[in-house]
Amino acid sequence: NHRIRLGSRPHGEPTADDYLHDAVEVSSPAAGQVLLRTHYISLDPYVRGRMSSAKSYAAPMEVGDVIEGGTVSEVVESAADGFAPGDMVLSYGGWQEYSLESADGLRRLDPSVAPVTTALGVLGMPGFTAYAGLLAIGRPQPGETVAVAAATGPVGSAVGQIARIHGAKAVGIAGGERKVGQLREYGFDEALDHRAPDLPGRLAQATPDGIDVYFENVGGAVWDAVLPQLNTYARVPVCGLVSGYNSTSLPEGPDRSGQLMGTVLSKSLTLRGFIQLEFVSSMFEDFLRDMSGWVASGQVQHTEDITEGLDRAPEAFAGMLRGQNFGKALVKVS
Ligand code: NDP
Repeated sequence: NHRIRLGSRPHGEPTADDYLHDAVEVSSPAAGQVLLRTHYISLDPYVRGRMSSAKSYAAPMEVGDVIEGGTVSEVVESAADGFAPGDMVLSYGGWQEYSLESADGLRRLDPSVAPVTTALGVLGMPGFTAYAGLLAIGRPQPGETVAVAAATGPVGSAVGQIARIHGAKAVGIAGGERKVGQLREYGFDEALDHRAPDLPGRLAQATPDGIDVYFENVGGAVWDAVLPQLNTYARVPVCGLVSGYNSTSLPEGPDRSGQLMGTVLSKSLTLRGFIQLEFVSSMFEDFLRDMSGWVASGQVQHTEDITEGLDRAPEAFAGMLRGQNFGKALVKVS
């Protein structure tokens, strides 16, 4: 079983030296367990947080642990009722070829209903994050303007397309011309490159009626451009701040927190952080039904960026945090 473990806690962007590659014997499943062979690994920004020792909503990885990650895997040996070799499942096997898992936590996948990889993207955790954060917190109304960055990624692309289904105008922000073109294909009403000059000016032009919902994925310079455009009573689901995940220091001054709070007050803004898990019991069933329908009808489109080979997971992961992925970042193991 070839696996990739955390060798040291990264300082800034994770590098090859932060990982340990090794191989161990595969063991047989105990009662209630299955042995899984990994087909696809999901690369998700939250894993960068787990590499740090900082306390979060979930415990950090320890040095020596296999790198965490959602996986689509195949049952190769089963000691659990209801699972047989050949079954495809969604699990959290992490960055390794094989994993032993308790059957309780597995979601069975039916490849005849949807390609199995969608369980890690549009029909999985990222798609659900978009659905829950936008509908439960953002609550877009017909005619309103919804803005989102990292807009070609699995979360952002779903946010914009669901906003349009709900009758809102979608403004997508992404890095580079190719991604801007992709946003137009997805049907976003406006598409902006955050790497081109004068994002604040271009965003103001693209949102003449202001912004009613800003789905916050990135923070940093994009947030600075968005804040002046927010309307009174705007809602901001705070989902992620990926522009800062590799940061090693606070941004340069001056301290603008007073100004920010002044805007929150004077515009009656609602900023509400969330972790998708809090909505699973109340919304996951609705999500699977709605999103499966939208994907089948073409109302929600998605793209996958598949890197071949477990050994390339570290470089693909660092690249994703930098914006090199074009769609949902996955690693194909076998
Ligand atoms: P993506 O596939 O969109 O990958 C991250 C993207 O972030 C990059 O492709 C890049 O896109 C963008 N990015 C990186 N640095 C910057 C920067 N400085 N400024 C602007 N954009 C930047 O990731 P996901 O769709 O999987 O995740 C999106 C966000 O959602 C993340 O913040 C993640 O942590 C969060 N999340 C939160 C969850 C929750 O429960 N709260 C659950 C799942 C995800 P580009 O090239 O367009 O700049």
